[in-house]
Amino acid sequence: MSKTGEQMVELIDPKLQNQLKPFICEETGKVNLMGLSPDKMLAFFEILGEKRFRAEQVIKWMHQLGVDDIDTMTNISKVLRQRLKSIADIRAPEIVSQKDSVDGTRKWVMRVTGGSCIETVFIPEDSRGTLCISSQVGCSLECSFCSTGKQGFQRDLLASEIIGQVWNAAKSFDSLKPATPRVITNVVLMGMGEPLLNFDNVVDAVNLMMNDCAYGISKRRVTLSTSGVLPALDRLNQLTDVSLAISLHAPNDALRNQLVPLNRKYPIKDLLDSCRRYMEGLPDRSRVTTVEYTLIAGVNDQLEHARELAVLLKEFPCKINLIPFNPFPDSRYKKPSGNAIQRFRQLLSENGYTVTVRTTRGDDIDAACGQLVGRVNDRTRRQERRGSV
Ligand code: SAH
Ligand code: SF4
Repeated sequence: MSKTGEQMVELIDPKLQNQLKPFICEETGKVNLMGLSPDKMLAFFEILGEKRFRAEQVIKWMHQLGVDDIDTMTNISKVLRQRLKSIADIRAPEIVSQKDSVDGTRKWVMRVTGGSCIETVFIPEDSRGTLCISSQVGCSLECSFCSTGKQGFQRDLLASEIIGQVWNAAKSFDSLKPATPRVITNVVLMGMGEPLLNFDNVVDAVNLMMNDCAYGISKRRVTLSTSGVLPALDRLNQLTDVSLAISLHAPNDALRNQLVPLNRKYPIKDLLDSCRRYMEGLPDRSRVTTVEYTLIAGVNDQLEHARELAVLLKEFPCKINLIPFNPFPDSRYKKPSGNAIQRFRQLLSENGYTVTVRTTRGDDIDAACGQLVGRVNDRTRRQERRGSV
């Protein structure tokens, strides 16, 4: 904890200092209530010696009503509000820009603590509205077709920065008011970063999304997409029951090794086995894994690849989502032709698979899959600041 943090807490009550330590944000010396999962919010009020129902009240104010001012929480006594204000605050990432595409897609650039920027995208469709959120600033996994991977890794997002994207988006649609229709019906962790490499914060954030006092989104409609960090995947269903998507992109290890370097550590067979275990551990056995397959011209989009994929996934309960490659500056790959996409799709359909092709949305505002880069710009400034506190 920073010096500022220690001073803040000492001003409140020296006895609480140790117990509150794990909750305190090192930049501000306060507890950011935005990122506290339902369990952590309960623990926080228990440490304060307050009633358990306060946790539910505060979560509702923030996530159902969009409140970020503790003084607005009128069912909480003035004394407790004062106490809360001295220890805690409520902060989401700062919105730097918001752009709307001609097709209704909306993209935000949000600045997180330290100055880096992340991107969040909302994609409206006929019967749903999907928010695509980021879990890290950059990504360390260097998949060869992904612009986030090309930019390198800077840091994990805090739980408040992950759920804060949902909070900001919901507020921008003014849908955090009583009796307004819900605009965000689905959330996918398919923006920047590898969610399973930021395990604890991602678990806290998805559990808030699915909590009835917060966003109450069904577990079928919150999807975590992973390139296959297996030890983390094997721990996941002890802590949450989100839906799962895996970034497969190739029907064999030799090709997947080229596209997803993580495959050299965790090959396809192990990945599929791990997904099976995750799904079998869920109470609702009707759910299946979504297999994401980015189609890249001349690399993995031939009929022989589709045939091999059909055999590979034969006994694997899944639906397949084909994503035409989205080019970005300096990418060495090309988008497949419409014909190649249809051929690939048809072969899989004929083999009994449920297949969808992701339509490219929002590419006039650089919001399509794999085009999210944010801005990783603050390494030095962050270190300088650390040195000065
Ligand atoms: N790291 C996670 C989630 C973020 S990537 C993962 O890899 O699953 C989300 C999805 O976008 C993945 O399926 C990824 O393979 C895909 N993607 C990345 N770059 C892309 C590009 N340039 N064109 C199309 N899809 C891309
Ligand atoms: Fe990271 Fe996913 Fe991009 Fe791979 S595809 S570099 S895991 S964000």
